[in-house]
Amino acid sequence: MDYQHRCQTGIPLDLPVGQVICVGRNYAAHAVELNNPIPSEPVLFMKPPSAIQSLGERLSVVERFMPVHYETELAVLITQPLFDASESQVRAALGGMTLALDLTRREEQSRLKQKGLPWERAKAFAGSAIVGAFLPVPESWEAVTFSLSMNGEQRQQGQTGQMLMPVIALIQHISQTFWLNPGDIVLTGTPEGVGALAEGDKLSMTLNGYPIGQTHVVLQSCASFIQGKSI
Ligand code: ZN
Repeated sequence: MDYQHRCQTGIPLDLPVGQVICVGRNYAAHAVELNNPIPSEPVLFMKPPSAIQSLGERLSVVERFMPVHYETELAVLITQPLFDASESQVRAALGGMTLALDLTRREEQSRLKQKGLPWERAKAFAGSAIVGAFLPVPESWEAVTFSLSMNGEQRQQGQTGQMLMPVIALIQHISQTFWLNPGDIVLTGTPEGVGALAEGDKLSMTLNGYPIGQTHVVLQSCASFIQGKSI
């Protein structure tokens, strides 16, 4: 089914589905686990709207994209246009939060990095952004916690206080280069504990203690992936 932004009660939000702006290496421990230096400025990249799938019962991955890694990230929904935005403009433009999986073809990413090529093939492929239903914005963006369990075992635990660049400053920084528009989503980086997905893996995620979604990995041929999109 085609993706639409939804709130936790399942009601569709009256916003278009926009681009997904992502930040790499926003948690020091994750940069270290992939042998990357801690960046002096955020690493930014994007996924197109067509890459988004809802966090639902099934997490579809096209088989030929494997190996694919999960990265669990706090996702923030933009509800007003932002460019070169002030802190208060950013705060007023945030309309919800959820968790997203920034799916990554890690071997492909390493190959592209070595050649100095753009990351889209590894980061922006079809189905690469898994987005949950949105919760209201938190009282403090500095104290949001989240976790990912896989097959009953905790794999990732995040706390926005550990971010190298916190949420509001990060979105201000992004808006210095890009227009952000209503319906866009910002993925704020992953904590350590990323790893590979396999057929049948069961994933469950919590955001500030609230269960945001449960899903299981289904590897698909291109033909069944296409069919699934039109159901
Ligand atoms: Zn990521």
